[in-house]
Amino acid sequence: MDQIILKKITLLNQTMLDSLTELDNLKIIEKFTEVGLKIFEADFGFAWWKTSTENEEYHLAYKSADLPYIPQLPRERGGNFEAMKNRTPIFVENVKKENYEKKYDVSPYMKSYVIIPITYNKYLYGNLILCYKQKHIFTEGDKELSISLGNITAQAITIRDFTQKEYDNLKRTEMFKYTWKLLQQEKIKTEFIANATHELRTPIAIIKGNVDLALKSGFKKIKPERALHSIDHEIKHLSQIISDLSILTSGAENLKDQIIFKEVNLKSLINHVAEKSKTISYKKKISIIVKKIPNITIWGDETYLEKMLTNLTKNSVTYGKIGGHTEISAKQSGKFIIINVTDNGIGIAKEDLPRIFERFYMADKSHGRHENTGLGLSIVKWVAEAHGGKVNVKSIKNKGSVFSVILPVNKV
Ligand code: ADP
Repeated sequence: MDQIILKKITLLNQTMLDSLTELDNLKIIEKFTEVGLKIFEADFGFAWWKTSTENEEYHLAYKSADLPYIPQLPRERGGNFEAMKNRTPIFVENVKKENYEKKYDVSPYMKSYVIIPITYNKYLYGNLILCYKQKHIFTEGDKELSISLGNITAQAITIRDFTQKEYDNLKRTEMFKYTWKLLQQEKIKTEFIANATHELRTPIAIIKGNVDLALKSGFKKIKPERALHSIDHEIKHLSQIISDLSILTSGAENLKDQIIFKEVNLKSLINHVAEKSKTISYKKKISIIVKKIPNITIWGDETYLEKMLTNLTKNSVTYGKIGGHTEISAKQSGKFIIINVTDNGIGIAKEDLPRIFERFYMADKSHGRHENTGLGLSIVKWVAEAHGGKVNVKSIKNKGSVFSVILPVNKV
């Protein structure tokens, strides 16, 4: 075999290796059409793809960027059908105008072309069509090459389909599911540790900065009160993070064990949270309104339920507008109680909504990291779930948010 053909076959084999990791058959077709154009030195080309093995329907799988006309679907009497039926390439060196009906007239655009069936053993996937603007004489080498191009493309697709099937089978096995779960847990753990480390590092860096500056300058560059205030602020922030982390790291299962269920009076719990929150809401002139709460007792852990409602109320203030309001209401619906915390604050963008219950996720970066840890809503979710309930949110950017906690009233 001559050297040039050998090089071209090597390029085809390389493309085959490249496509082993490709997850999409059409991408493989794209790769091979482009390589086909290169090794045949053709001007443009496209590929037909057989829609199913049962019928004779085709669609355009790929077309090169500068294809000058829209290919018509293969017709039963046309070269495409013939190439596929006989599983041999068809070479046309001189497209004659009279050979085409008016509407399929491609002669102004191409003078020669080759149709190569993509076929290997019993499999037939479609055709590759490589076209020349000028008349092209096909050599014996071209003829050999066209068979290799069709075969290797088909082999690449067969191998991909095979590996995909094997992979799908593997995914169904218990071992795979178990390993996958372990990997996911490991990933969650690693991300959690990375995020926690990052959050803890910032306040420590600020404390260290203040101490360094004071020590180096003998309090000349920073006033003692300012340094101590800053340090005090960061220590409070650190303890907030640590206390939030200690709830979350106990893990959903363990958290359930930690929860001490007893009867909790809903009305006094909500009133207590509202009163407590007024110490932070007054600065922003936000009024906290408690609607009529049903006089019932629910089954839960008062400390955690209080933490959950405090987080929601605190958020409604943090992300509330000056002079705004927060409304806490509750209604019973069968065996469940629905507690709504509604505000008319800054709201949450649609794209952030699915993520706000994730640990450390902060949708509104402008509120920075002062009092916030990005952990509040994850705690809300965990507490709600540990009580056999759930939490939902509805929010409109710039209008406000409603967080709804749904809890079973009785023992779960
Ligand atoms: P953070 O400590 O940042 O408040 P959370 O987990 O409590 O952490 O909340 C996650 C993010 O969800 C917040 O950073 C904020 O962007 C958004 N968010 C929570 N509650 C509200 C609310 N009531 N109004 C607007 N945005 C909110």
